[in-house]
Amino acid sequence: MFWRRKKDEEAPAEPTEVEADEPAVESAEPEPEPAAVEPEAQPESVAAPEPPAPAEAEQPAPRPGALWGPGIGPPPPEVAAAFDLGLARTRGALVGRLRSVFRGDQTDWDEVEETLIAADVGAALSMEVVERARKRRDEDPETDVRSELQALLVDRAPGWEPQSAAGGGPAIVLVVGVNGTGKTTTIGKLAARYKAEGHRVLLAAGDTFRAAAIDQLRVWADRAGVEIVAHKPDADPGAVVYDALDAAIARGADIVIADTAGRLHTKSNLMDELSKIRRIIDKRLPGAAPETLFVIDATTGQNGLAQAKAFNDAVGLTGVVLTKLDSTAKGGIVFAIEHELEVPVRFVGVGEKIDDLLPFDPEAFVNALFGEV
Ligand code: GDP
Repeated sequence: MFWRRKKDEEAPAEPTEVEADEPAVESAEPEPEPAAVEPEAQPESVAAPEPPAPAEAEQPAPRPGALWGPGIGPPPPEVAAAFDLGLARTRGALVGRLRSVFRGDQTDWDEVEETLIAADVGAALSMEVVERARKRRDEDPETDVRSELQALLVDRAPGWEPQSAAGGGPAIVLVVGVNGTGKTTTIGKLAARYKAEGHRVLLAAGDTFRAAAIDQLRVWADRAGVEIVAHKPDADPGAVVYDALDAAIARGADIVIADTAGRLHTKSNLMDELSKIRRIIDKRLPGAAPETLFVIDATTGQNGLAQAKAFNDAVGLTGVVLTKLDSTAKGGIVFAIEHELEVPVRFVGVGEKIDDLLPFDPEAFVNALFGEV
């Protein structure tokens, strides 16, 4: 469920689509007519009118027109509950097991290290955490381990959101990652979220390598009720992004979210393609600072981290989206990602539905992780 104010709830606009082989030819099309999206695709809170919730008045006021985000007050109960649920497996495997180690008179630190490794914190990093926690002796071993884990998470500015270029124009989010990690689903969820915040969102179907990827992105554009620019399969992804920027500028869209191909990261042509997209963005919107979000599947653990490092080296990531946190007991990968890449996790996926995307808040995450088992 979205935790937004009722006044933001409105019927999503009918998604529109630009099919073009030549850049910018068919971008200028009529304004979309407001129309309801398919009922099954609507976020629950939109489909069913919410009864006035007394608790709502006690929640921290979000920024005008905005959903809750990290650094702007404590997360509302819905977010805390969603983190709780999404982290159930990891909490059981990591914190549940740690607590049984800490229950005895003497802490078996080797067992603590093994527990951290099993939760995918990574072998070398788990050793470091244990060494530092042992020296800490602040309160109790659990608090020491918790503090050391929390210290691995990078600092982030409150209220982060993608920024538009200095000279104006839409903010750009490039979504990169290996196929199957949840890239398309994440783009759909992000689109729905930004739309709910009051933004005008446009998707760019930049994964032209797979025809199915274009079709799937259309389905998500439809669900989220946002516009999409797509070319034919095998078209130049750079041309898709260029056209999407043109269309966004013409229509006053303020966020463009671009899908990209996700063939194996070891293929240098994929990295070349991403670099080319970056150059095209610079050409069309000089001074744009696109967010490059890497989608990583939490169930792939350290393997996913190796992929992230390769992408970071090649194209420079500005953020990470960790998907399928609900399906794994290895959520400790969050600590490894932030520590190793020094890039913040921006969102986590906790399910397959359109609203199963949470803004990542280090404090809410650690609180949920070390909650009641
Ligand atoms: P892509 O190939 O990277 O675009 O991946 P998709 O977006 O098609 O997702 C692959 C599969 O992962 C689909 O079955 C999604 O429903 C599923 N998926 C994506 N995100 C999540 C998540 O956060 N939790 C769960 N449980 N499944 C997810």
